[in-house]
Amino acid sequence: MSDIWCLSGDLEVEKARLLEACLEMVADERGEFAPTISYFEQRDNPLWCVEIFFPEAPANDFVAAVLARASLQDWDYTLNPVEDKDWVSESQKLLAPVEAGRFFVFGSHDADKAKDGAINLQIDAGQAFGTGKHETTAACLEVIDALADDLSPASMLDLGTGSGVLALAGQKVWPEMRIVASDIDPIAIEVTEINIKVNKGVGRDIETGGKGMALVVAEGLDAPAFDGEKPFDLITANILAAPLIELAEDITDALSADGTLVLSGLLVTQEKEVLEPYLDRGLVSLGRVEKGEWLALTLRKP
Ligand code: SAH
Repeated sequence: MSDIWCLSGDLEVEKARLLEACLEMVADERGEFAPTISYFEQRDNPLWCVEIFFPEAPANDFVAAVLARASLQDWDYTLNPVEDKDWVSESQKLLAPVEAGRFFVFGSHDADKAKDGAINLQIDAGQAFGTGKHETTAACLEVIDALADDLSPASMLDLGTGSGVLALAGQKVWPEMRIVASDIDPIAIEVTEINIKVNKGVGRDIETGGKGMALVVAEGLDAPAFDGEKPFDLITANILAAPLIELAEDITDALSADGTLVLSGLLVTQEKEVLEPYLDRGLVSLGRVEKGEWLALTLRKP
């Protein structure tokens, strides 16, 4: 066993954010460094998974004070020492290289595996991205690969960019493109910033126009930053079915006339309910890529 301890449990995202703030506040008051907290969406659970990593067994009164501050005294969490192994590299081993069309995506632990003739993307997901999403990412990459031959979009929005992988794939295929990569999770945006550098991508500030990728932390399209950037010729949104349905109006509005939309993160069984609000708004369906139980849909705004 190592000295690292992990406190984890499921929470609503608002509660997770509150917990993060309380953690910092209480640590600050005690003149201590706040332990690392991360939280991520889960596929089959409306609650987010929260993990707090302590460099040593946490003091009981510290944990109690944080939970009391966040009104989470009744929270059903677990607190255990982390097994003594390099858990970051362990988790990255799970991220086997993904080959999709012309793209080859691998973690830094596989950097020697870069493939000749492919568009290589080195993506260390770290705290962004989560797990179990390979199929949806691969499906979106296949769609981008298929679009690459007939499309030359001037602008792209990658909504829910996670590690930045789809935005980077877009930039490699269409280097002149103006791109916005957004995520509700600030950690995803930090990770994307690193991945732009690692992959020699081109960044830019929001609203400066021109080619390059600007980064925005926002829930859906709810940020003033989008006003000067809309509309987009290509939008990719690999999130979950529920936010895709909720965002149908905003996403459709943000799409250029003749623009292309790639929706993913939905299960095959959710196809109808996700498509409907988009078809109702006049988009036409161009195709679907199925990967296991996951689906990516391509639509166009006529
Ligand atoms: N685009 C990446 C990551 C997909 S994971 C890929 O294809 O691999 C989904 C990402 O969407 C997560 O990073 C999550 O934080 C983000 N997300 C979920 N709901 C969102 C919303 N309403 N607005 C913006 N981002 C959202």
